[in-house]
Parts: sequence; C-alpha cells; structure tokens
Amino acid sequence: FIPISLADRSKDELYQLATTFNAMIDKLEHNYMKQQQFVSDASHELKTPLTVIESYADMLKRWGANDPEILHEAIEAIHAEAIRMKLMTQQMLDLARYESSQALDLTEFDLTELAQELRAMVETAYNRNIQLSSPTTLVVCADRLQIKQLLLILLNNAIKYSSEPIELCLGQQGDQPFITVTDHGIGIPHESLPHVFDRFYRVDEARHRDTGGTGIGLSIAKRIADAHNAKLEVISQEGKFTSFTLVFNE
Ligand code: ADP
Repeated sequence: FIPISLADRSKDELYQLATTFNAMIDKLEHNYMKQQQFVSDASHELKTPLTVIESYADMLKRWGANDPEILHEAIEAIHAEAIRMKLMTQQMLDLARYESSQALDLTEFDLTELAQELRAMVETAYNRNIQLSSPTTLVVCADRLQIKQLLLILLNNAIKYSSEPIELCLGQQGDQPFITVTDHGIGIPHESLPHVFDRFYRVDEARHRDTGGTGIGLSIAKRIADAHNAKLEVISQEGKFTSFTLVFNE
C-alpha cells in the first residue's frame, strides 16, 4: 500500500495514482479471499461423497468376496456417489466460470420459443408434463445459452422436488418480460427461502437423500440472473408449491 497521507502531500497526480493502486489491491485481496473461501467450501463438499466411497470400498475389501448382498449394496452406493461427485465438479467449474464474470453473448431472441423448446425437451427426456402459458412471442435481449441453462436448473429442481405437472408461465410486468417456473411439490420452508441461492445450501440433507442434489444449481442460476441485471425471486409454501420467477430488466 502507498500511504495516502504521504501522497496527499505531494501532487494531485500522485494522490490519484495511490488511490487507484490501493483500490486495485483491495479488489485483488477481495477476489483472493473469495477464491480461498470457494476452494475451502468445495473441498469440504467433495469430502462427503469421498468418505462414503471410502467406507463402502472398505466394506467390499473385508466382506465383498463372500457376501453378495454387501457386494451389491456397496457397488450401488459407490456408483451413486461417483455420479454425484462428477455432477458436483462440473457444476463447480460452471460456478467458477460465472463468478469470474464471464462475458455475455447478448442477442435478441424469443423467450416463448425457448420455453417451447424446453417443454419438448423435458417431456421427452423426463416424461414429465409441462403446462405452458405464454404470449405468441416475447422478445428479450440476453445470452440465450445462459438463460437456457438457468431455466434448466429451475426445471430440473421442479422435476426432482415434485411429481405433479410443472407450470411455465411467461408474460410482461409493465415493460419487463418475465418467466415463472412453478411446481406443486414438497416446497421450501419459510426460514430456508433466504438461503436457497447460497452455494452448497440444501434445505435438509435427510429429506432429499435420494435426489442426488449438490446445492450448487441455484447459485449458478442467481449469478446468471445477476450478470443480466435480472431479478430471480422465489416464493414457496411447504408441501404445496414452489415458484421461481426471472424478471428481465428492459
Ligand atoms: P440441489 O442440487 O440440491 O437441488 P440447488 O442449489 O438447485 O441444489 O437448490 C438448493 C436447495 O433448494 C435444494 O437442495 C432444495 O432443498 C431446495 N429447492 C430448490 N428448488 C426446489 C423446489 N422446486 N422445490 C423444493 N425445494 C427446492
């Protein structure tokens, strides 16, 4: 750091240089701390599936050769945890990419058409019904690939945490186009709502042990919305419904 008081005594130019330099150092320090935190959170999260894999591998070594039941259970568990770790590392890479403020590839495109594309994809791939209500066209200026990724995260959650048809609703709030993804599933407890966009946050490990989630999806979605200067909001009632709305700023 250049002491500003010293610089202050000299010429204006030097003072400005010192201020700019100090601001740069502050920013670097802040980014460094954020990166440190990310590495520490990520290692912590990866340790859990690794510990499970380790203990099942241990079980296999001891009893696997003689007990077919243990053999089967351990292989299934190791396979499931390996898949979760793979998803988690892919999502961590995505999150790191978005956190280092990836450039946006802005184009004008029809949100209704994107919603129709996603509906067809989800209905085919997951055999889940989607009810779409939208104007004939709804043009937005955004990064189409990123918005598609964001909506896929919301749809993927709706699929995981509900079994009823999912609703996709598009429209305008004044001049601002919006899209809402609603499901009628397990819902999110009131006290968890402020945290769902935090990375690695999961409402309650126990209640979604089978869904294989990572707690990263919504933090990626939020970063994509922020980069677009768009709002991503959630309302929910436990056991009734969950509704995420993305409001574009145009
Ligand atoms: P995950 O991979 O665990 O789903 P997310 O970051 O996408 O991670 O979501 C964070 C947490 O928010 C989830 O673990 C889940 O508890 C809760 N959540 C997200 N979407 C829904 C939803 N549609 N219904 C109920 N709970 C949800």
